[in-house]
Amino acid sequence: MNIALKNITALLKSENGYKAEKTDIYIEGDTIKAVGKTPENFKIDKTIDGNDKFAVPGFINCHTHTYMSLFRNLADDLFFDDWLFKNIMPMEDKLSNEDAYWGALLSCIEMIKTGTTCFLDMHMFKNQTAKAAVDTGIRAVISRGLTGRDRNDKDGVKRVNEALEEAEDMKGSKRLSFMLAPHAIYTCDTGYIEFVLETAKKKNFPLHIHLSETRKEVKDSLEKYGMSPVEYLDKLGFFDVKTVAAHCVHLSDEDIEIMAKKNVNAALNPISNLKLGNGFAPVLKMFKSGVNLCIGTDSQASNNNLNLFSDMNYTAMIHKGTNEDALAISAFDALKFATENGANALGINAGSIEEGKKADISILNLNCPSFCPKNNLVSALVYSANGSEVDTVIIDGNIVMENKKMTMIDENEVYKKVNEILIKLKGGK
Ligand SMILES: [Zn+2]
Repeated sequence: MNIALKNITALLKSENGYKAEKTDIYIEGDTIKAVGKTPENFKIDKTIDGNDKFAVPGFINCHTHTYMSLFRNLADDLFFDDWLFKNIMPMEDKLSNEDAYWGALLSCIEMIKTGTTCFLDMHMFKNQTAKAAVDTGIRAVISRGLTGRDRNDKDGVKRVNEALEEAEDMKGSKRLSFMLAPHAIYTCDTGYIEFVLETAKKKNFPLHIHLSETRKEVKDSLEKYGMSPVEYLDKLGFFDVKTVAAHCVHLSDEDIEIMAKKNVNAALNPISNLKLGNGFAPVLKMFKSGVNLCIGTDSQASNNNLNLFSDMNYTAMIHKGTNEDALAISAFDALKFATENGANALGINAGSIEEGKKADISILNLNCPSFCPKNNLVSALVYSANGSEVDTVIIDGNIVMENKKMTMIDENEVYKKVNEILIKLKGGK
């Protein structure tokens, strides 16, 4: 389908960052065909009136666990180890594949409704996130969370095989791509990480891992391996493969140097780190060292939403505050992390409204308090908008939400179903 967004204010790249400018955007199939002038012989199937609307590149959520929406507000105000090992993991053991599918659907709806058009998932249930992404129309990079001891660990090998089968099962889905995700260095032993790394190299998959999230993770790594988690993975050759590392909170200057040199993509999860009491990532140092910074929400169990407007805002605010420097991370920087840098990290041709990019665009309603008066719409996206302004979302050239209504799925059925699942998980009828 060919779509024309006429007379719309759009967030476009400028020499020194971004600008909000009135223009026309032409979408042909899954691609932005032109911005500004009408392409020759362009047959319009649908026109969207852009008056009082703001077209923004879809945000890219670079770290989440979509099935975990089922645990939203279920285990709050707990220390990290109590949260993960005593509350979240036992709940995960009770989930069926179908439960995970409905949980992932809820997350996809939540992301679309707050302007996210692509996400990187770490999951535990083969094909379920992928199906939810296909059913809602969102773009996704899928990675199976992997844990194990070594290459002879039957369960660990089974998980790797499932990840490979999933990529094979879903290879016809053009909005999906895949990574391998050794969960963390404290849930994967050395032999197993080496096995996953070998598989990634052989099958050409990027890697996704939780890295240096807690002080304890770093302390244990120093005791066990005599090295920080970053140094340890580097020594194993992990970063020879393209990697998205989530969290990156407790890093030494040497760690940051390694990450910059090896082009490791750091997915910041500021709200999750705050909520679990894990601290702040050294964002300014990473930024100055040239590490590609992108943003993730983590799951609803530790955020408790998948709204990148919030995480962009926190990214800018925290590092202004902790560095006592109001210029540390600007609105431009935070927006770039959530769009272009995310696209680079995930290897997708999106993240900006430009000719030739994938047509992944959110259309926001400008007649909202957060955009009025229209002083600086770029700042407004990071400092005053909250996601409720998102009206219509186009992903891969398809309108997946129009006038706040999901077009490919019955969202009320999803809300009903996840509430039923929660009752079941808690042992009710
Ligand atoms: Zn995570």
